[in-house]
Amino acid sequence: MNTRVRTRFAPSPTGFIHLGNLRSALYPWAFARAKGGDFILRIEDTDLERSTQEAVDVIVQSMAWLGITPDEGPFYQMQRMARYREVLAQMLEAGTAYRCYMSREELDALRARQEAAHQKPRYDGTWRPEPGKTLPPIPEGVQPVLRFRNPQEGSVAWDDAVKGRVEIANAELDDLIIARPDGTPTYNFCVVVDDMDMRITHVIRGDDHVNNTPRQINIFRALGCEPPVYAHLPTVLDDRGAKLSKRNGAKAVTQYRDEGYLPDALINYLARLGWSHGDDEIFSREQFLQWFDLEHLGKSATRFDEKKLRWVNAQHMRALPDAELAALVQQQLEGRGIQADARLPAICTLFKDRCETTVELADWAAAYFADVQPDAAEMEKHVNDISKPAIAALRDKLAALPEWTAPAISEAFSKTLEEHQLKMPKLAMPVRLLAIGQARAPSVDAVLALHTRDTVLERLARAG
Ligand code: GLU
Repeated sequence: MNTRVRTRFAPSPTGFIHLGNLRSALYPWAFARAKGGDFILRIEDTDLERSTQEAVDVIVQSMAWLGITPDEGPFYQMQRMARYREVLAQMLEAGTAYRCYMSREELDALRARQEAAHQKPRYDGTWRPEPGKTLPPIPEGVQPVLRFRNPQEGSVAWDDAVKGRVEIANAELDDLIIARPDGTPTYNFCVVVDDMDMRITHVIRGDDHVNNTPRQINIFRALGCEPPVYAHLPTVLDDRGAKLSKRNGAKAVTQYRDEGYLPDALINYLARLGWSHGDDEIFSREQFLQWFDLEHLGKSATRFDEKKLRWVNAQHMRALPDAELAALVQQQLEGRGIQADARLPAICTLFKDRCETTVELADWAAAYFADVQPDAAEMEKHVNDISKPAIAALRDKLAALPEWTAPAISEAFSKTLEEHQLKMPKLAMPVRLLAIGQARAPSVDAVLALHTRDTVLERLARAG
């Protein structure tokens, strides 16, 4: 029987979530889609001091914007406490967990002795039940923790989809605390119960969790369950080679939206940050969801490179139908209090090749829906004694054109240039500067044709 693939993204809502973190959502989502399975969102909010609703909202919003849609969830670990207690009770009953009454002071003293003897600090098994062993008398007034009875013999091994075979001797692993004195379950235990209950088949997560995996596998087995397949993704580094973090300038995902990036471009860029499909650099969301597999995950840490992201974004902008691009540019314009009209798609067609973000495209488009303020130094350079008479003559010709089209405008230009014995840039630069605030821009007849004639006449009159 083929088991249905089920993956999850299990963020802790304890602060800032950046693009590197979201790759741990992207891959499990894509894998579930590629295999026709389910993708689950689970919020690991048991760290009450550090978890916030605000962080949950940011995670949900970021995923929604990128279109990484869960099939189930969000589930919250804090709402599953009864279930964790139930499993803890079962493990106590089965003897795979035991109560440990060692006090904090005793543990500290044990650690100090081990450190003095140059040994690795570890729990010494005082309260671990063994056949024929007599446990110490239970001290009064001490609330016990629960410890997992980790196997002592042999090793725990798994075939990691990224790292290959990983094997850890059980002797290396402590008897992990799975419930605190107040009975609240601890992190590694909750993860296993959730992955088991949610029937997760593939755990795809950052390799900062790789040390937890042998412990989690042992707990799985103690619960009579086979662990899922694990894939531990290498770290995402910043441009200086440090771990990506807010401190090192990593941005919130929603900031990329505000800066004019397309969700599909970010998906494309993030997908390539640790996975490959031959030499393909640019692909659509649909292609990615068809192609994604665990066989082509990268093994080494990758650097987040904003310059490359901009390039990827530019390719996606070019490939997007102009009506869709215009809708995104319109949002940017609205954010500036500018109302666009039906000319916007054509404006996008004309300017998009010189833009890497929709913010840059909105900068060009704004000249059509709001007034322009050309740079004074540029004005001085281009609107001079040579160009001024030609601008005035051109303006008269434009005013008299029977129709307002690019070819008609072009003809008016040619005639003016001829009459004034000027080369194209000498007139085109000042005219563009006046009409859209930039001297260097696409072909001037196309630039002007997208304006209303009145606007052009009014702006050219400013040449003085
Ligand atoms: N909650 C963990 C984190 O935010 C992820 C746990 C997991 O994927 O197993 O890093």
